[in-house]
Order: sequence, then structure tokens, then C-alpha cells
Amino acid sequence: MRIATINCGSSSLKADVLDSVTGARFVRLRAERVGTDDATIRWNDAPAVPLPAKGIEHILGDLFTELFERGGSVQAVGHRVVHGGERFVRPTLIDDAVAEAIESLIPLAPLHNPANHAGIVAARAALPSVPHVAVFDTAFHGTLPTRAKHYAIAPDLLPNARRFGFHGTSHGYVARVAATALGAPLESLRLITCHLGSGASVCAVEYGRSVETSMGMTPLEGLVMGTRSGDLDPGLVLELVRQGRDVDAVDTLLNRKSGLAGVSGTSGDMRDIEAKAAKGDERCRLALKLFAHRLRKYIGAYAATMGGVDAIVFTAGIGQNSPGLRHRVAQRLDFLGAHLDEDRNRDAKVDAAAPVFDISGTNARVKLLVVATDEARAIAEHAAAVAQEADAVQAPKTIPIAVSARHIHLTQDAVEALFGPGHTLTPRNELSQPGQFACEETLTVIGPKRSLERVRVLGPTRPKNQIEVSRTDEFWLGVDAPVRRSGDVANSPGVTLEGPAGSLTLSEGLICAARHIHMTPADAEAFGVKNGDLVEVRVDSNGRDLTFGDVLIRVSPKYALEMHVDTDEANAAELSRRDEGLLIPTEGTARLTRLERR
Ligand code: ADP
Repeated sequence: MRIATINCGSSSLKADVLDSVTGARFVRLRAERVGTDDATIRWNDAPAVPLPAKGIEHILGDLFTELFERGGSVQAVGHRVVHGGERFVRPTLIDDAVAEAIESLIPLAPLHNPANHAGIVAARAALPSVPHVAVFDTAFHGTLPTRAKHYAIAPDLLPNARRFGFHGTSHGYVARVAATALGAPLESLRLITCHLGSGASVCAVEYGRSVETSMGMTPLEGLVMGTRSGDLDPGLVLELVRQGRDVDAVDTLLNRKSGLAGVSGTSGDMRDIEAKAAKGDERCRLALKLFAHRLRKYIGAYAATMGGVDAIVFTAGIGQNSPGLRHRVAQRLDFLGAHLDEDRNRDAKVDAAAPVFDISGTNARVKLLVVATDEARAIAEHAAAVAQEADAVQAPKTIPIAVSARHIHLTQDAVEALFGPGHTLTPRNELSQPGQFACEETLTVIGPKRSLERVRVLGPTRPKNQIEVSRTDEFWLGVDAPVRRSGDVANSPGVTLEGPAGSLTLSEGLICAARHIHMTPADAEAFGVKNGDLVEVRVDSNGRDLTFGDVLIRVSPKYALEMHVDTDEANAAELSRRDEGLLIPTEGTARLTRLERR
């Protein structure tokens, strides 16, 4: 889908039009120092040009109109919203009520939400015909457990005080990218993601869910940042007040004049600090030490919080570009099983085309990864998923469902062993998937407890033997077989097959087939899904309505549109022949949407 993403700050605007699946950029807009005499704007790679010194709310309408014109047929707009409060824990389709609710959250994020809200109002006015989706920085941390959410103060002292966490869109995105690079489902991994930009935070992502993060009720808590102090003794704040500073002065001190900037006496830009530290500047050296020490402390704590860690991810401006900082942080992580390959660390480069670089030493138990974050792409993915879901509600898409009885796929060698040398399968009737047929041949499947007789063989022959049965069949046979996608028979249980010319004991091949939908690439495009996605399918049946989750999408030009379930599944939903199901699409980000629904 072609998505516009909008990140509207109080004095800056970042907007992109991109493809939510490939990440390809069509338009890029950057406006900076808006409202001042130095305001500039850049379209794509053109040089920055001056912008009239009007407040941001006065220029948004024109800018968005131009953005949508340049962007072509934008199908949905994703808005970054910093604070979602208690209410918004997932990306949300914006209607008038949602826009009002976002406005009502301004007291929680007085610096950010007003501009986010102004962006929503102006963009909805400029392009009212497409869905607008709010993507919240806090949402990914909606899964924080109670013990991580609360401060140790009396509950009635500040009833709304709790830890929210920020940078969630980035933490969630790099966690997904890292899992893909590690070749493991996110739901099986414990990750520590370190988003180190001018604002910085770290997140413990346990099996896909944020369970701890360093920013709290506000973005001031946690790591040492460009200009923010991060953690400090609340007694220190009291002392600043006792010395006569008012609340705004303390706010400015801790949010704008502390952190790397305050310690080093620079603007807080890591490049300057590293350059000066290399020349011997003691304050810059101290700033680097504090930054690295604080982060290492959090990494150790989060490994303990999750009871272990599989990978540590460095991302954002500093995380992606500073080998020196990564080196400092990783120095004492050997005890966790993480150690750095110094050469790879120095050479690490990531970008949109190659977003992951492994900097771990050989045989490291815990991977150290540099991952390019891409918040616009993450927002586009979320916006596309929500827009398509909304679309699906309006325009239901039905899929014919076929019930697969138990059956057997054989190799040519097995055919000959069971039916005699030189035997070839005899087609009996064609099946709905082109080229597939049921055969005259049947076999007896012999399990440890009992046997199943006259089990139909399907043709043509395949590279591997595979016997697909239902759970009920497994109980009957006395074998516990895994739910697998077709063709994935490694380490599944074996059984004995008995045919007219002999029997064959297989070491593997018995599976309970994962429910799936066959479709062509054109179908996949129409449904907004891709090969390997997991979707949900709703079946309205007489008195036994059921929504099937974990339905695997299988795309090939050779397929015909059809969902396959086994006899147990069909009975559970009271399916009759020729029933249809309703696809509830979750886009190419099926797993992501499912996770965030938990
Ligand atoms: P944000 O989006 O929060 O403003 P970024 O993710 O752009 O932040 O990160 C900005 C930080 O990244 C700055 O401290 C900057 O100095 C640092 N940075 C960028 N490039 C490098 C580099 N090559 N080496 C060290 N630090 C870098």
C-alpha cells in the first residue's frame, strides 16, 4: 500500500510517502526550525530552502496538500503520536472521537501531543477520503507488567503516575527486523533493544512483548541522553529546588541542559563529544563513560529481568554509527555470553537495503546486532495493517473452504515398494488444486495402537512421503504428530504403511496439516496478504460460528483459491461442503498485529 507518514513536532515536520511492503520511498519532506526566522524545508534530495516564519499550525495545510499531490494515490496516512496514555495500546483508526481523545492527552505530553494533534487535524482536512491511523510511541509498552509500570509511591499521591515508556515504534520495529535476521520467530526470543539517538531508551522485549523499558512517565527517566539527565536521585531535584529554582527552571535544566550536553559542556552531539574526547577533553571523556556505563547497567538488569537474553540490538543515530560507543558498552558483557568482534564492529554499516549487521564474535551465545531503525516504515506498516483491517470490515472477502480427509503423499520409490516394481499411480478424480488428483490406490496406516484402513493416496508423487491425519486419527493410531505446513516433515513421527505388494516403515512423515489457504499472487494482492502470512478466517455456521487463527497463506501461480481444514476442524465449526469463510486480513504484518492484540 502507498502510505503517507507524518511526524509532526512543535518546530519540525518529517513526512514521507512510501510503500508499506517494500519500504520504497516516493516522497520525502523535512521542515526544520519551523516558526523561527531560520525555518527551512527540503523536498526529497533538493537543497533546503527558507520557509516563511509562521507557526507550524499555519503551514501544515499547504504542506500536506502538496505532499499528497506529490505522493500520487496515497491509500492511507499514518501519524506518529507520542503519547497514547492508558487508552491507546495499539495503532488506531482515527475518527473524530479518537482525534478528540488524542487532544485530551495533551497534559501527559505537553511538548509533543499538541503538534501531533495539529498534524492530524490538518492532514485529515487535506485528504479526507482515506483512512488516517494514529501510531503511538507508548503503545508497544502497553504490555509492561504491573511491577514494571508502577513507581513506589502511595497510589493516591498522583493517581495517573505510571511508567509508559517511549520510542515504542522503533523498539518494536527493530525487534521484528532482528528476529527475521536471526531466522527465529520473535515470539521465541528475548531481546534487549537499545535506541540510542538524541533521546535514548532501552527495552526488554520478551517473546515479542515489551516487559521493561528505561523511559517512564516522561522521556526524562533512564539512559543518559543528548540533553536529558536520565536517572538521578530525586534528592538531587529537591536540592535544585531548595536552592531557589522554580519548576520551569528545573525542567529546563534536566531536559535541556543535562545529559551528554551538560556533562561535556557541548551541544550533546555524540560526534562532537567523541572528537573532543579523542583529543583529551576530560569532560567529554566523562560523558562517554557515563553514557556507556548507564547503558551497560540497564543491559545487565534487563537480562536479569527476562532470565536471559538471545540478542542485544543497537539502533538509531548513535547505536548505528558509533563503533566506539558500542565497544565501550560491550566490554564487560562476556559474562552474559555476548562478546564483540572488534573488526566487524568497526566495519558495521546498516541502511534500508541491508538493515542488519552482526557484530558478535564467533560462537557468541548472545548476538550483538546493529539494526537500522526506520520509524516511517514502521508507521507505514502499522497504518496499512489498520487501514486494511478497516477495509475488510467494510468489504468482506470470502474464501471457499474444503475439508481434507486423511490422505497420503508418496515418493515414486515408496509407490513401487508398496504397489510393486514399476507401478505408477492411477488417477481417480481431479482435486481442486490444479494438477493434483486422488488415486485409485489406498493403503493401511499402522500405528502403535491401531490402524487406519483404506487411506487414500494423492498424486502426483512427491520428493518426500507425507501422511496427513487429524488429531482424532492420531489418538486412534496412538501417535503424537506435530501441526506442520505441508512438506515440513523433518523429525515428525514415522508409521508403517501397508500396501498390496509390501509394507514400508517410515522414520518420519506423519503430520497434522496446518490449516492453510491456497491462492494465486493476484488473490494475494486483492486480499492484501503474502506467502507465509498468518491470518484469521471467520466461519458463520449454524450455531457453531468459529474464527480460525493461525491460518497460513500459501501463494503460487499454480494454486486455486481455497482454504483447507481437516475433518476435526470442519466438525468443530459444523462445516458442510461448499462453505465459505471470511478472511480477516492482517497484511504482511500478520504476526505483528496478532502480537499487539494480546
Ligand atoms: P533523533 O532522531 O533522536 O534526533 P538520531 O537517531 O538522529 O536522533 O541520533 C542522533 C545522535 O546520533 C546524535 O547524538 C549524533 O551525534 C549521533 N550520531 C550520528 N552519526 C554519528 C556517528 N557517525 N558517530 C557517532 N554518533 C553519531
